Amino acid sequence: MQYLAMVLYTKSKILIFMKKSFLLALILLAVKVSFGQRTVIHCGNLFDASKGTLQSQMTIVVEKNRITSVEKGYSRTSGSDNVVDLKTSYVLPGLIDMHVHLESETRRGGSYDRFTQNPPDVAFQAAKYAKTTLMAGFTTVRDLGGSGVNIALRNAINRGVADGPRIITAGKSIATTGGHADPTNGYRRDLMGDPGPMEGVINGVDDARKAIRQRYKDGSDVIKITATGGVLSNAKDGQGPQFTDEEMKAIVQTAKDYGFNVAAHAHGAEGMKRAIRAGVQTIEHGTLMDDEAIALFKEYGTYYVPTIIAGRTAADSAKIMGYYPPLVTPKALAIGPKIQATFTKAYKAGVNIAFGTDAGVYPHGYNAKEFAYMVEGGMPAAEAIQSATVTNAKVLGMSDEIGTIEPGKYADIIAVKENPLQDVKSLQNVIFVMKNGTIYKQ
Ligand SMILES: [Zn+2]
Repeated sequence: MQYLAMVLYTKSKILIFMKKSFLLALILLAVKVSFGQRTVIHCGNLFDASKGTLQSQMTIVVEKNRITSVEKGYSRTSGSDNVVDLKTSYVLPGLIDMHVHLESETRRGGSYDRFTQNPPDVAFQAAKYAKTTLMAGFTTVRDLGGSGVNIALRNAINRGVADGPRIITAGKSIATTGGHADPTNGYRRDLMGDPGPMEGVINGVDDARKAIRQRYKDGSDVIKITATGGVLSNAKDGQGPQFTDEEMKAIVQTAKDYGFNVAAHAHGAEGMKRAIRAGVQTIEHGTLMDDEAIALFKEYGTYYVPTIIAGRTAADSAKIMGYYPPLVTPKALAIGPKIQATFTKAYKAGVNIAFGTDAGVYPHGYNAKEFAYMVEGGMPAAEAIQSATVTNAKVLGMSDEIGTIEPGKYADIIAVKENPLQDVKSLQNVIFVMKNGTIYKQ
């Protein structure tokens, strides 16, 4: 009896094992089919971002999340290939924006949101803005400051639970007390408190070091400082320097220890110069750049991120009664319209230009309007596109991964209908988006 029971038990075990093996084999086969499948993209015209030229009739092959080959002509496909026909389109590398704020978006009276929104409210809207940005053809962005939800958003996108661009984030920006990114500017005194390095407010070199270490602990990828006053903070000054030389140096040196580059918001020339001399990698806005500052940009190899669209939009919004708080309106009117002329001056002088827009100061998804403003400001379309691809990849230290369409790189590929070298506005109408090998728009 006991023997029979044993035999039956063993038989059923074997059966279960066989069933399990069969299922496993099926799963493995399915995985192999989905992972083995190639996506073959036939491109009528392909933008070579390294050279700034177009090549006609090209084929890109994508496997998993990488580009595996780029071939002349329309290569043959097999039955199992996923073929994408872009024979009547212009295909480019995914665009990169060096300056966005995915947590928020401008609107009339929006400065009161910080009193009413909880982090989950911010998270839901940030996820929407991230998707909008991706659909506009921007497959990588650098988020230069929010509450820290931008770190959670980056993680969610990397895990595949939210759709959006690849994010390099600063987390919370660093300012001095009352400075442009002091989160309690304009509050009444009992709400104002005394924010410190944890909240991104520093005074002195010890605070500066602590703020960088806190960003490291928080999971930031890059450091953002507000080297001068700014337009949209509820404070009077929009351009004066806001860090001492010693604080700037402590920030840049400590950032280097932790592998961070530093981006510095700056409108006024003095704060800009202190930041460049301290060794920041990029200057954002750069509005009141003078000849001495231009010489420093060139001497230090610092990149200029113009954000022309943000200046123009802020100036336009300031003309609407009640759009901004009373302290902000005159700053927006004075500083906003000047950026485009600064861009022209910097470009002609040979300053390194990295494409960036300050998205959030204008509605997300219109990032590509910046190209038209750059071309209007004197930069050829091909160079403007290069600044948003190869140049930005270099600034991010990701030249091996993004910025061009080459074998081995992430499959970040977009397409537009019209020739962007003839009319750069065509980039405002992106018809195809692939990020990391996944097609999001077709
Ligand atoms: Zn900004």
